[in-house]
Amino acid sequence: MNHFDRRDLLKAGLGAAALGLENPAFSAAMQGRRTKRAIVVAFAGGIRTLETFAAPANVPNLMRIAREGVVYSRARATNLGHFGSTLSIFTGISEPRGIRDNTRGADPTLFEYVRKDLGWKPGEVWISTSGGVQEANASYSLHPEYGARYGANTVDGDGIFNAEFKGILDAYGRPRELAPGEQALLDKMRRSIEGSQGGGDPESVARVERFLLDELKRGTQELNGLGAADAKAFRVARNLLSVFKPRLLAVVVREADVAHNSFNNYVQVLRRNDEMLGELWDAVQADKELADSTALFVLPEFGRDADLNSRRGLDHGDGSEELKYVSLLCAGPDFRRGESVQEEVRTIDVCTTVCHLLGADPRYARGRRLTRLLS
Ligand SMILES: [Zn+2]
Repeated sequence: MNHFDRRDLLKAGLGAAALGLENPAFSAAMQGRRTKRAIVVAFAGGIRTLETFAAPANVPNLMRIAREGVVYSRARATNLGHFGSTLSIFTGISEPRGIRDNTRGADPTLFEYVRKDLGWKPGEVWISTSGGVQEANASYSLHPEYGARYGANTVDGDGIFNAEFKGILDAYGRPRELAPGEQALLDKMRRSIEGSQGGGDPESVARVERFLLDELKRGTQELNGLGAADAKAFRVARNLLSVFKPRLLAVVVREADVAHNSFNNYVQVLRRNDEMLGELWDAVQADKELADSTALFVLPEFGRDADLNSRRGLDHGDGSEELKYVSLLCAGPDFRRGESVQEEVRTIDVCTTVCHLLGADPRYARGRRLTRLLS
């Protein structure tokens, strides 16, 4: 292909990676493969393998998905605090530059790589979070070549689906004037979907609003109790799947961090998250198109200390193996089945691997492609 042709194709909106120009080795490896979508679950808040794969009764869903996929039981985590370590999963860089809690990072995220390289639309790339500014900050970086225009749509389940929005349900969508208070609530709800107004695509904005409305009716806001914010994030993700069939969907949860004060509550949260993960996986399997094309990655950002603290909780700071290594589960149509890999990999390898599977080039990421993944 000469330069003129290539430039024309790029102008026509096809990313270089989509054309297989950047990475011929990758193109060959993925020839005839089925993976066209990915779901990345940051099963975060700090979770040890001791309470997951080493305690199967806690996580029946992780276990059954593992039988259909590959588990890396020595995935080395980066320890930069919850936010930095979770962000690293999505940037593929273990030391985010200029990162402070509650600010965006300087390194491009997985979402930006795929949206820029593959020309994916805003409606195709989503993050569902359990709420809070930190999780939402994973949607895009401040990198000058990437940034907001390539970000993921972000839905903060707890922010949207709380009780105060119930009241506007009746008003919404009806041809009557909203009271000023109702209008403010509706505006707030719309703002909770970050990025949905981007690109000025009225059809996708309308679909997002319809989705929100349906979501309110479906009772997601009624999920309550310990771990409810995480449960909402999973439920929203499952419902997003059916409405938008996203090509890339991330779920970012964090409530397992109750472990600092209570080991028992921590186990309860992770059991609930396992159940919600099972629901998400079943939704993928129930849809033939999704089942045939979707790869799933599930991992905590880091583990926790080896020993209980004085409150019978678990902190994260002792530098132990239990803290530094987590289990990474991968399952998808092109992956090996029922494999357990003992070789050391890293949590930052997820960004690189997902980019390669989908055909994007993670230019700044420092992870590697996971070995022994493809069948
Ligand atoms: Zn913590």
